[in-house]
Amino acid sequence: MYSYIPMENIASDLDYLKGTSIERNIRNIEDFYRDVNEKLSAFSLKEGIRCPTGCGMCCERFLPDVSKLESLYLAYNILLSERKTEIIRRLNESKEQKNGPCPLYDGDNDFHCMCYDARPLICRLFASSCFPGKNGESKFALCHLNTDFKGPDKVPADAPVMGVFGQRMICLEDNDNITEFLPLRVLKDISLIEFYSRLKK
Ligand code: SF4
Ligand code: SF4
Repeated sequence: MYSYIPMENIASDLDYLKGTSIERNIRNIEDFYRDVNEKLSAFSLKEGIRCPTGCGMCCERFLPDVSKLESLYLAYNILLSERKTEIIRRLNESKEQKNGPCPLYDGDNDFHCMCYDARPLICRLFASSCFPGKNGESKFALCHLNTDFKGPDKVPADAPVMGVFGQRMICLEDNDNITEFLPLRVLKDISLIEFYSRLKK
């Protein structure tokens, strides 16, 4: 489950970001993710949608592209992580990769992601949100690797729709709709945040 990292952490851990556009961007995307999580959790709970315990095949086969704010939020969380050095090494090693496994994938971790709280939007939405059907209706497709559960027979009118969240994210202040390969973009943002750190010292 998503656990909210209180932004007060900025004061103690990353106080050099205070008052910068990076701090504002991090706060904005965190608020957005919190809303996404609440809506997806309510939908999944109501419809009984969940992945089989132990499955992480999507992360083994996929490496997401990320937008500016998704990347900044990942970089910020990686710098707070106890596994920071390992994650940065993995990101560097995956710079030439074209496909999965995602460098953040960790089969031994319960959530299979070394940065689960900061995972990109597509990782939150995949197999737990709807997409538009031919006639504009919302449709839900269970992941084909999920053989333990079945999706809803009928999609409720208020079901969360992937494209709606995507549009909302693009429209967040300072965000863009140009996505870039996760390892390269996140490494650049780690360097950017570390640059602010050096300025403070
Ligand atoms: S960022 Fe995390 S959740 Fe997303 S593909 Fe990578 S390991 Fe999986
Ligand atoms: S979305 Fe599919 S591949 Fe990914 S964890 Fe769930 S069942 Fe497994």
